[in-house]
This record gives sequence, structure tokens and C-alpha cells, in this order.
Amino acid sequence: MITFYPGPSKVYPQVAEYAAEAIQQGIVSLNHRSAGFMDIVKETVQLLHEKLDIPADYHIALVSSATECWEIVAQSLTAETSLHPYSGAFGKKWAEYAYRIKPPTNLNEADVLCIVQNETSNGTQVTMETLAQFRRDFSSLIAVDAVSSMAGIAFDWTLADVWFASVQKCFGLPAGLAVLVYSPAALKRAEEIGENNHYNSLLFIHENFSKFQTPYTPNGLGIYMLMRVLQQVQPIAIVNTLTKKRAADWYAFFEEASLTLDSPAFKLLINDPATRSDTVIAVEGSEAAIKAIKAAAQQAGITLGNGYGDWKNTTFRIANFPAISDEEIGTLKKFLESYK
Ligand SMILES: *Cc1c(COP(=O)(O)O)cnc(C)c1O
Repeated sequence: MITFYPGPSKVYPQVAEYAAEAIQQGIVSLNHRSAGFMDIVKETVQLLHEKLDIPADYHIALVSSATECWEIVAQSLTAETSLHPYSGAFGKKWAEYAYRIKPPTNLNEADVLCIVQNETSNGTQVTMETLAQFRRDFSSLIAVDAVSSMAGIAFDWTLADVWFASVQKCFGLPAGLAVLVYSPAALKRAEEIGENNHYNSLLFIHENFSKFQTPYTPNGLGIYMLMRVLQQVQPIAIVNTLTKKRAADWYAFFEEASLTLDSPAFKLLINDPATRSDTVIAVEGSEAAIKAIKAAAQQAGITLGNGYGDWKNTTFRIANFPAISDEEIGTLKKFLESYK
């Protein structure tokens, strides 16, 4: 069975060995305040800086999920309230979570701008050019949900103060861990707000991570597997080139199919090439056609991603994540070409 589900998604095959190592070598039984464990956290943070080209002055912490990051931004970095210009289901959810913590009573005083860089639900993305425009127009903090693009494409990290991603998408790992990146300005804001009421208050997390520790017993297995995957992957500039090439090929593939058929059963959900995601391709069809192709793919040993939110029954999604091999992409293309 091969999977193109955009999260949880295909994990790197080597992850099986890494998990076995972590258990055989007793890593999962290490005390999380021991030197051995702190070394793993330290190396993981260093590798994130190195492989993802994260600026040296940006801080990195590991938490449990992107959803947790939504709450950390609201509780620890938002003094008044936040702005959420969204275009899909994840952006909407983020706004709902944030507004339960910091209600939108006075949006004129919003002090955090929250952007979903890659909207997994409909396969759109916010380009670095658009983010640069936000940076020019908004003088306060910018927080970016990059769950389904971090480790898949390159970012200009300086265009935002907070970036986060859980690892079950482009990192090619099992769920249960998230990477939280924050700038010196974000840390300064956390200090000004001084919020320290939660186990996951950013100041408390920061204090722990500055000693390569964590506030609570962390997902040690997940951290170890992240470290091992980061050792294995290419630098982000190389991954970025591959992801974008594959994305361009996928979009050309579906555009060609629409041109050569009179009434194509499927077409790309997003018409504007400038907003199409590099890492999640959304394909639209009638409810019946979508149901049929997902079932036929399953029969052929291929899992397509279901639609999500408003697009649940009228789209399927194809993850374009680095752990997916050229051979698997070839298999799916062959299936789609022969599908009638
Ligand atoms: C998957 C996803 C999330 C949720 O991640 P969790 O690890 O389940 O919290 C948030 N935002 C986006 C854009 C996603 O794709």
C-alpha cells in the first residue's frame, strides 16, 4: 500500500530502524533531564538550524502538536487579540482556538497576525512575496502555521516571528511532536506579557529549552526519530528544488489531462497558479467521481487523501512530501492515466 495522504502521511522507511534503535539502545527509557537525553535535544535543535537554514538568533522548541502552537501563540504572545486572514479549514480552526483564549473584542488593537502558509485543506499557499507584503504592512508580530510545508520548501524565516509545524507531514515522521521556531522579537514579546500560567507557557518552555530540557516528560521517541531523520535528509535548498519540480509536474499533469479530454471528470481545485500549494495538490470532481476514484485507487494499492472541510466530498488530495519516492509518484500517475 502506498499513501499520498497529506497527514498523517508516509514516513521515511528508515524510521522503522530509528524506532527500533531508540528502544534497543534504551533511549526511550532515558530520564529527560539526563545528559544523554539533553545531547539528543541539543543535536536535534542544531540539525534543525542547519538543515532547514533557520537563522542562528531564532529559538527552537519542541512541543506536541501544531494545535498546541495555536494555543501558545494566543496565551503567551498575544497581548490583546490576533488577526486571522484565512482561506481554508485550518486557518478557520486556528482563529476559533485563538479567539477562545483572546476574544476578538477590539480587532483594531490586534498585535499578532496569524497566517497559514500552506492551507492543507484546499491546497493553497501564501508565497514569500505575499508574506513580505504582510511584513511591510503589519508592524507587530507575525505567526505562521507551516505544518504542511516546513521541511518541504524553503522559507525566508525573517518574514515572520513564529513558525511551527507538526512532524507528520513534510518531516515524514509519525505524529505527536511539533517544531516551534520563534524570533528574538517573539521572545521579547513573551517577556513583556509575562504569561506563566501554563505548563506550555512560552517563557517556561524557553527556560527549559535553553538547557535542552522540556517542561514535561517529552515524546523522547519522536525527538530521537526527528534527530535521525534530520541527519539523513538533504539541506532544505535541495529539498525545495525537488518539491517545486514535482509540484510543477503534478500541475502540468492535471492541466494536460483537462486539455486533452472534452469533459474531464477531474480538474485542479485551485485555478490561480500563483496560489497553488507546492506540497498539497487538491483535485476536484463530482461527489460520485471522487468516491469512485478513491475506491479504485485503494483497489490498486494507493491511498489518495480525502477532501477536508468544505471540500470533503468533492476533492481528493495528493501529498507532495519529500518522503514520497519518484517510483510511488510514477505508480500514481500511471494509475491516473489508465483510470476511466
Ligand atoms: C495538520 C495541520 C494542523 C494540525 O496539526 P496537529 O499536529 O494535528 O495539531 C494544523 N495546521 C495545518 C495547516 C495542518 O495541515
